[in-house]
Amino acid sequence: MTGESVGPSRVMDSKRPCDVGDHQLAVSNLCGTILSVQKGKTIWLSSPVAMEAAGEDCCVKVAVHIRPLIGDEKLQGCKDCVTVVPGKPQVQIGTHSFTFDNVYGSTGSPSSAMFEERIAPLVDGLFHGYNATVLAYGQTGSGKTYTMGTGFRDGCQSGIIPQVMNVLFGKIENLKHQTEFQLHVSFIEILKEEVRDLLDPSFLSKPEGAKEGANGHVVKVASPGKPPIQIRESSNGVITLAGSTELSVSTLKEMAACLEQGSLSRATGSTNMNNQSSRSHAIFTITLEQMHKVNSACNENNGLNESMNEEYLCAKLHLVDLAGSERAKRTGSDGMRFKEGVHINKGLLALGNVISALGDEKKRKEGLHVPYRDSKLTRLLQDSLGGNSRTVMIACISPADINAEETLNTLKYANRARNIQNKPIVNR
Ligand code: ADP
Ligand code: MG
Repeated sequence: MTGESVGPSRVMDSKRPCDVGDHQLAVSNLCGTILSVQKGKTIWLSSPVAMEAAGEDCCVKVAVHIRPLIGDEKLQGCKDCVTVVPGKPQVQIGTHSFTFDNVYGSTGSPSSAMFEERIAPLVDGLFHGYNATVLAYGQTGSGKTYTMGTGFRDGCQSGIIPQVMNVLFGKIENLKHQTEFQLHVSFIEILKEEVRDLLDPSFLSKPEGAKEGANGHVVKVASPGKPPIQIRESSNGVITLAGSTELSVSTLKEMAACLEQGSLSRATGSTNMNNQSSRSHAIFTITLEQMHKVNSACNENNGLNESMNEEYLCAKLHLVDLAGSERAKRTGSDGMRFKEGVHINKGLLALGNVISALGDEKKRKEGLHVPYRDSKLTRLLQDSLGGNSRTVMIACISPADINAEETLNTLKYANRARNIQNKPIVNR
């Protein structure tokens, strides 16, 4: 294996033996090597499909999503201060002009074009063993939760995550005759540099004012006595969350219920900017495990082992609704709320630094340190950000002139992310 690549992520959580069909896999997290031989079958991780896919362009894509002017802004007589250059993925605000991979306009619900162009390829990549991360970045009220679909009231039905689920289960349905699948879901939030489990099964209660989910699921809230969740890294670079709930799901309905439950239990708080503002980073993670049947000719071609007839792949997709990127002073908050603001900035600052380090190709070649450890957010995303993982950042912006300063900050931050180029590295 070469350099820093973590390769197509043919890796899995070593703490979890994987029961795939009649194979009990004693897995250690290896990249691109034979994994285990049990019950007379060789399980391997270096898929020809994944190798082929490794030749694809692997880099961070940055899209801008401009929401329409919303009620309050219209009432206040706000003007639209963001211009999209016709026919180009270019945004202008004041005297500043930025070019991104895509710019999605201000009308309608989260654009299906955005999903097709930017998100669907990541779901495809999962089936080839690639980890991926989607990050929704922007100030509070800019449409992150709406875009991701992590808000129970607003975006749950039409956001990115529900669409990912639809595509995922559609593909599984088409492939299930030749591949066995296992899906796992976790949903956590990072608030004040603490990881909280939004799917914790042992703390069922109904917070005041919360509605029961459409499927009759009850909101879960964190227990004061629960040991904190720990982010751990295995010897081969796989990040796991010790102490968080990871649910096995086999239907779209089950996965949707996880999203709904977690969305409802997500901590929210009032600020001057948006009374449903989330000050936490919410991370919905889907892990896909696959056991393919591989024909023997394929194995002969790559000369590894003629007796191999199955392959195992595991990849995860993080869907991240980041905390509001506005500066603490703009929220008008103090005391506890201000502290949260500081921690939020720490995560976003670290994310910006990691992205910047990954994007500096020259320095990366010189072995530049990527500061993943500077925040819980970057630590958690470490094995799915950079390397051969696919990353999409969606910079969410409001078009309103009252938000011009924060919109400009968001565009600058997103512009920095655009420099990441992860050259594909094929594992041998
Ligand atoms: P954030 O999560 O960034 O704080 P939200 O997703 O909660 O922002 O969006 C703020 C408000 O804007 C919500 O009322 C939401 O319904 C509305 N909104 C966001 N994006 C859109 C959109 N694309 N179309 C219509 N309304 C939107
Ligand atoms: Mg939100």
